[in-house]
Amino acid sequence: MTLYILPKEQLPVFVDKLKADFRVVGPVKTETGFAFDDIKQAEQLKLDYPTTILPPKKYFLPQREVLFNYHTSINEKGARQIDTEPVFQDVQPTIIFGVHTCDMTGISLYDKVFLEGFKDEHYLARREQILIIGIECLKPCDDASFCKDMGTLTAPPVYDLHMTEVESRYLIDTGSEKGEELLQKYGEVKLATTDDIRDLSRTLSAKWPRFRHRLKMSRDQLPSLLTINYGAITWDHLGERCLACGSCTNVCPTCFCFDVQDELDINMQDGQRTRLWDSCQLHEFALVAGGHNFRESKASRIRHRFMRKGKYIHQVHDILGCTGCGRCERACLVNITIPGTLNALHDEMQLDANPAAG
Ligand code: SF4
Ligand code: SF4
Repeated sequence: MTLYILPKEQLPVFVDKLKADFRVVGPVKTETGFAFDDIKQAEQLKLDYPTTILPPKKYFLPQREVLFNYHTSINEKGARQIDTEPVFQDVQPTIIFGVHTCDMTGISLYDKVFLEGFKDEHYLARREQILIIGIECLKPCDDASFCKDMGTLTAPPVYDLHMTEVESRYLIDTGSEKGEELLQKYGEVKLATTDDIRDLSRTLSAKWPRFRHRLKMSRDQLPSLLTINYGAITWDHLGERCLACGSCTNVCPTCFCFDVQDELDINMQDGQRTRLWDSCQLHEFALVAGGHNFRESKASRIRHRFMRKGKYIHQVHDILGCTGCGRCERACLVNITIPGTLNALHDEMQLDANPAAG
């Protein structure tokens, strides 16, 4: 780890230099809030943004992507033959600027899901071209955040550079050789002095009291809390309220379920296979051949979502499936929230253990 200093007034120069060789995306202000988008002018980049509607997952897993084109024909033996040609969309040198620590945690989960064991070639092709420049969160995004509960207030080691605003400068930590090269080639930086490091330490210490806890239990207890409460009445209550709209999963930095569809051209010979975001909260998600739906009720679908966030993903990838970003809470029209639900399960469990308390 090497720490550098970039004076704030040098940031636009740094961004403009990067733009000469990279697609640079980052948080920009829109009419409805903040969103990750292409930075056309350095001034558009807003590093002091609270949060974005969608996380940067769209650059790793696009909402819709063609996986391959295919052509069907009858060969000389009279058998049907299918020729395929892989397609790799949106693969270009890209810098994602200003990623919060919670969203970096989401990216680290994606890296495990798509690159450990079976490697997803489409994900890998994009991932190899993406550099991440993080920004340290010095205050919560808003009341929906519970990153402190989920342990995502510090950056996981997926960044190439990580910036912390300290008074009139950014202190920049290098997380990879590529990050170091970026600074050397494009940044007007100096090595941090002892005084700079002392100021950084003060800034980081001062941030923690600004974040509050919202969960009544520790995150380590989530897998057992969900296991014990598989049959809880809370799921039925949530199922009565849920609209099954799928907004919560669409905005989530850790949701990655997708649908795969074949689209055959009108000539009945050429077509393409596409991958699209899907949502376990939609009725059709668990609909299988014969019309059977193995998660017919909304209650069972909501429970499944929570089991994945707090238990199943952890079992497979050793990381919880929720970063505490609060996006699902902001998106849900009926105010179904992660902290509210987990606390309700906790209370229901206490009530079961001690009925007199009710
Ligand atoms: S479940 Fe909600 S709070 Fe957790 S990571 Fe997804 S959107 Fe953020
Ligand atoms: S956003 Fe709310 S209403 Fe829509 S599916 Fe998710 S929990 Fe249900």
